[in-house]
Amino acid sequence: MNVEFSNCILCGKDNTEEIISLPPFCYVRCRNCDLVYLNPRPSQGLLNKIYQGDKFHSIDFHKDPTGEEKLYFFRFSDRLKVINRLKKRKGKILDIGSSWGYFLGLAKEDGWDVYGVEPTIAEAKYAQERFKVKIFTGRLREAQFPAQYFDVVSLWHVLEHIPDPIIELLEIKRILKEDGLLVIEVPSTRRLKDDISGKKFDINNPPQHLFYYNISTLSSLLEKIGFHIIKAKGIGNTKILKMAEAHKAGFLKIFVIKHFRYLRHVKKILQSFKAILRMQENIIIYAKLKVQ
Ligand SMILES: [Zn+2]
Repeated sequence: MNVEFSNCILCGKDNTEEIISLPPFCYVRCRNCDLVYLNPRPSQGLLNKIYQGDKFHSIDFHKDPTGEEKLYFFRFSDRLKVINRLKKRKGKILDIGSSWGYFLGLAKEDGWDVYGVEPTIAEAKYAQERFKVKIFTGRLREAQFPAQYFDVVSLWHVLEHIPDPIIELLEIKRILKEDGLLVIEVPSTRRLKDDISGKKFDINNPPQHLFYYNISTLSSLLEKIGFHIIKAKGIGNTKILKMAEAHKAGFLKIFVIKHFRYLRHVKKILQSFKAILRMQENIIIYAKLKVQ
C-alpha cells in the first residue's frame, strides 16, 4: 500500500474535517485540537524512496545547485544571530534535514562544531564536499548519537515532512544537553493553499508537507514531549523570489539575489507589516527541556 491513514498525532483522536482534497490524499483539520495534517498520506516506504533520491545523481561541487546560496546565507545568518544570543557558548550544533548544508556551512564559519543528518544522498554529499562538514546520510535515529550530546538542534522546514514527529522529538530530547536549545521553523497553516496552488499531485508526487502547524499546535506538541517554549514567532513570507519566478523574469531573480544585501532591509520592513497584520506564513519556535 502506498497510502496510509492516521489519527491526529497531537490528541490521538480521529475526528476531522476535510480542508482540501488532493486524491488520493487529503488535508484535514482535527476538530479536537486544530492540527492540520495529510490524511491519508503517503506510506513511510514511499516517502523513503522519494527522499533518498537517485544515489547516482552526479553533482558539480563547484556550482551552487540551487542558485540561491547567497539568499540562504542571509536568511540563516539572521537565525544564527538569535541562536548566539540564546546560547552564549558555542558548542555542538546538529541540523536535521541539513539539505545542501548552507546552515551548517555558516555555523561552522561562525565557530560552531557542526553535524548534519540528511536522507537525500546527493544533498548530503554536496554539503560534505562543499563545506567539509560531518553529515550522516539517513534518518536521525539511525545516526545513534550519544545521549546529551548537542548544545543546539535545528530543523529548518523539516518537521512538517516527518511522518512521526513525536518519535523524532523524543530522540531529539535524548541527544540534547540538559540546557540545550531546540529551534524549529515550519510553514504555518496560512501557507497551505499557497503551497499547493498550481501544482498537480499523484501517488509518485505526493504533497510534501504532512503537517501544517500554528504556534499553538506546535507549542502543544513540544510541551507534550517535555519542552518549554522560550520564544515563538510568526514570520511573513514576502515572496520576492516567487514573484520574480512567476513572472518568468529570470533577470529579476538574478537581480534580487545580487542585491539582496540591500533588499533584505525592504524585506524586513514588509515582514514587520505582515506580522502586524498577522499574515505570517512561517513559524519559528525556540525551546528548551523542562527542568525535571
Ligand atoms: Zn487533534
